[in-house]
Amino acid sequence: MQLILLGPPGGGKGTQAKRLQEDAGLVQLSTGDMLRAAVASGSSIGQQAKAVIEAGKLVSDDVVISIIADRIEMPDAKKGFVLDGFPRTIAQAEALDAMLKARARRIDAVIEVRVPDTYLVERITGRFTCAKCGTGYHNKFSRPKVDGVCDKCGSREFVRRPDDNETAVRTRLEAYHRQTAPLLPYYERKGILHVVDGTLPIAEVARRIEAVVAAAAVRN
Ligand code: AMP
Repeated sequence: MQLILLGPPGGGKGTQAKRLQEDAGLVQLSTGDMLRAAVASGSSIGQQAKAVIEAGKLVSDDVVISIIADRIEMPDAKKGFVLDGFPRTIAQAEALDAMLKARARRIDAVIEVRVPDTYLVERITGRFTCAKCGTGYHNKFSRPKVDGVCDKCGSREFVRRPDDNETAVRTRLEAYHRQTAPLLPYYERKGILHVVDGTLPIAEVARRIEAVVAAAAVRN
């Protein structure tokens, strides 16, 4: 099973992809996570991408396409994966189609997690994660049970993404509408697009995504 989660920044794709990884055994392939790891490691890709990511713009198609091409070859991705944050442009979607076709694979379903812009700035600028285990929190919507202590691992260290500030968020939203939203009609035409209301509670969004995945599994 190969899935794509599409939607605006802060719309909950990462949260839902992690759930699918835990519950459905699909490995989460997040180009944002991969690029942040490249920045942290100081690799040449990371050095090139750092300023672009922090400004909220898109990294070049060539770079992310080659990252994904390598990643889907790894053994854990052979059983299936959920793409989170890729593709983000028509060129990336076309490259993805070509690389899957060459391997006799295809995308089974594309799920748009739909959230209007008015929700997103507050969602993104309030979020932070545990520096040790990566559990996500939010200043307003999901604080740790004990202030300053991670519920899951007890760490007291938290991090915020450098691109989660209001200026970068507005640039990221603009990039989404201009460069990524055209993917919706692209997948609609292929008859594999499903829309889920991303303003609902996390568990309900997860339930609706699972229903789409179950239906796609039956079609397979
Ligand atoms: P994300 O974690 O998905 O919000 O991605 C964070 C940032 O990484 C984006 O704002 C882009 O700068 C970069 N990025 C992640 N995925 C892609 C992609 N598929 N194409 C271009 N840039 C990307």
